[in-house]
Amino acid sequence: MNESRRAITILGSTGSIGLSTLDVIARHPDRYRVVALTAQQNVPELARQCAQFGARYAVISEPTLVGKLRQALDDHGCNAEVLAGNEGLEQVASLPETDIVMAAIVGAAGLAPTLQAARAGKKILLANKESLVIAGKLFMRAMKEGGATVLPVDSEHNAIFQSLPQPFEGNLEAAGVERIILTASGGPFLELPVERLPTITPEQACKHPNWDMGRKISVDSATLMNKGLELIEAHWLFNARPEQLEVLIHPQSIIHSMVAYRDGSVLAQLGMPDMRTPIAHALAWPDRIEAGVNRLNLASVKDLSFRSPDIGRFPCLGLAYSAMREGSSMPVTLNAANEIAVEAFLSGQIRFDRISALVERVMERSERNEIHDLDDVMQADLAARTVAMELMRRIS
Ligand code: NAD
Ligand code: MG
Repeated sequence: MNESRRAITILGSTGSIGLSTLDVIARHPDRYRVVALTAQQNVPELARQCAQFGARYAVISEPTLVGKLRQALDDHGCNAEVLAGNEGLEQVASLPETDIVMAAIVGAAGLAPTLQAARAGKKILLANKESLVIAGKLFMRAMKEGGATVLPVDSEHNAIFQSLPQPFEGNLEAAGVERIILTASGGPFLELPVERLPTITPEQACKHPNWDMGRKISVDSATLMNKGLELIEAHWLFNARPEQLEVLIHPQSIIHSMVAYRDGSVLAQLGMPDMRTPIAHALAWPDRIEAGVNRLNLASVKDLSFRSPDIGRFPCLGLAYSAMREGSSMPVTLNAANEIAVEAFLSGQIRFDRISALVERVMERSERNEIHDLDDVMQADLAARTVAMELMRRIS
């Protein structure tokens, strides 16, 4: 075996980003090898992946599924070691033999193992935006102390990273940057009459016009909460003040984001809407590798259009702006309330238009506390979830 290959742990390998990551890795067996793969509960897919990629560790978050996973691995003739729960996730995020950690768990559940990877000085490919939203300060500090590097995988942040001068040391002024412009497709309901928003079903919300993604981020894209979370993500990643961050609706999802400079220049990254491009970029940076992506043909795309977002139609975007401006525990509250609301919508308990209503009410009712450590994050997260569950019964 070629020992110069970079060793990878994929947190959340059975999800949309996890699958795309494995797709890119499979194209480069000479560059990368898989050390550990993890899933919440999809045993058959996890076992299949471990066998295909020769993983040394298989982590299942749901501890009651350990026996099933052992059996499934046996059936594939795979002798990966089985680990479970948060401990298992944290262990494979910081293994000495792992060079690269793809953080692709969805939601706040991804925070602890991603922080662990930061402390252990790994190269982190960050898809799990919720980690930065709820613990940006802690994450950036842990990275510095651990000597870790973060490469953004979220397509907008990857585009911004590519449009900034390298190396970027976290000082936008020094780099001559005036504004960062995050593009947003506007999701599937950009043109839907507002009075029809209450009738939207989970299936409709999960059918994104340009991207094929996990269910939670699909709903977030439909409410534009995804763009709100991405504002806060950009705030931490690029050390940007709220007034330096702008959102622009661009329905074709070809320009993935832009950076506007003092001299009037605007740099952008363009490409097909396929997450394998930012994943391949982050994996290989500063090299460029084949990602299996269709080439962009602007003549066949024809039109690129733009407009300002309508906060009246998408209140979640306004809520995220306020949470970002307010800081302290508000982004944690915003994210936790949103996770509960999206889950409730997906399971048919609340209407689509109640997602923003629920988040807003939880934010109104929550205490503002300073965030110093992980316990503070967990406390604010739990408090917001508790308020959200109580309120949900009343507004559903
Ligand atoms: P997904 O739902 O398809 O996959 C999530 C993965 O995390 C699965 O492997 C699942 O088993 C695991 N998981 C879920 N809950 C867990 C828990 N409580 N504990 C441990 N593991 C758990 O989600 P996705 O679309 O791949 O998104 C993953 C992350 O990447 C999200 O934070 C999302 O915002 C971000 N992201 C996704 C895309 C995309 O195109 N899908 C684009 C940009 C950013
Ligand atoms: Mg994105």
